Amino acid sequence: MTAFVVGHKSPDTDSVCASIALADLKSKIGVEAKPAVQGEINPESRFVLDKFGLDAPEILTDGAGKQVFLVDHSDLAQSLDNLDKDKILGIVDHHKVGDVTTPNPIWVWTWPVGCTCTVIKNMYDFFKVEIPKNIAGIMTCSILSDTVIFKSATCTEQDREAATALARIAGLDDLQALGIEMFKVKSAIEGTPVRELVKRDYKDFDMSGKKVGIGQLEVVDLSLLDAVKEDLARDIQALKNEGSYHSVFLLLTDIMKEGSEMLLVSDDPSVVEKSFGKAPQGDRVWLDKVMSRKKQVVPNFEKGFAA
Ligand code: MG
Ligand code: MG
Ligand code: MG
Repeated sequence: MTAFVVGHKSPDTDSVCASIALADLKSKIGVEAKPAVQGEINPESRFVLDKFGLDAPEILTDGAGKQVFLVDHSDLAQSLDNLDKDKILGIVDHHKVGDVTTPNPIWVWTWPVGCTCTVIKNMYDFFKVEIPKNIAGIMTCSILSDTVIFKSATCTEQDREAATALARIAGLDDLQALGIEMFKVKSAIEGTPVRELVKRDYKDFDMSGKKVGIGQLEVVDLSLLDAVKEDLARDIQALKNEGSYHSVFLLLTDIMKEGSEMLLVSDDPSVVEKSFGKAPQGDRVWLDKVMSRKKQVVPNFEKGFAA
């Protein structure tokens, strides 16, 4: 049976590229595998795949009866519907270990680094498999995306080393320029429905028993979002009601100013000050130096919600 390699819901560039890379590696070390995604890929991922001449993975949302490798997540809430736990063959990730459990021993590679593709680069080396040029290219882009061109608090020395080695294989010489090009694609929001923007990079969390949603839009200049900001604020209010959330937060991250404006709707807005030491002005707050949902926003909110 062919196994699927799949990333989290609302696929980002790392989830897409890690699924392609791990499927390539696994297939070369004796496990027939193919990449999959849990939904339409975003414009940044489309740009990256087009640049290196690769097709988007097929869409898979139901895990019933499927053998799977999970990449870029290990949370049930972010995984396939009807995930068959005894058919999980492995996990490759760089987030905190989630709540997926398995009845059998499996391969688990989770490293505290900035990007799943950094781990996969090291797996290729471990298994002594050569990385194809186009896959090295998308893996480089994946690292640039997840580490916000090496600026995020999540970025580690391993990410820099992996990106440098992958760029050499792919024949890329100006990673800074490539990164900015990618983030410009990501910043182009014209004509995109508001709900699609809110959900583009969106994750559900359970925080002290409360349902919390946190979305993020990363742009090269926050003013690009001026025209849609009020619509975004209205839409997270609607989303909160539809999904019976305690809170929905939307981070509008300015990657040049290196901070985020957070839009919020919450049954208890004081949780923001408890978490970040700064009170919101109405339904928004500027968080200086906060760019990483994983390393800054989620841990702070977990403490704030528990307080
Ligand atoms: Mg991801
Ligand atoms: Mg990632
Ligand atoms: Mg990300």
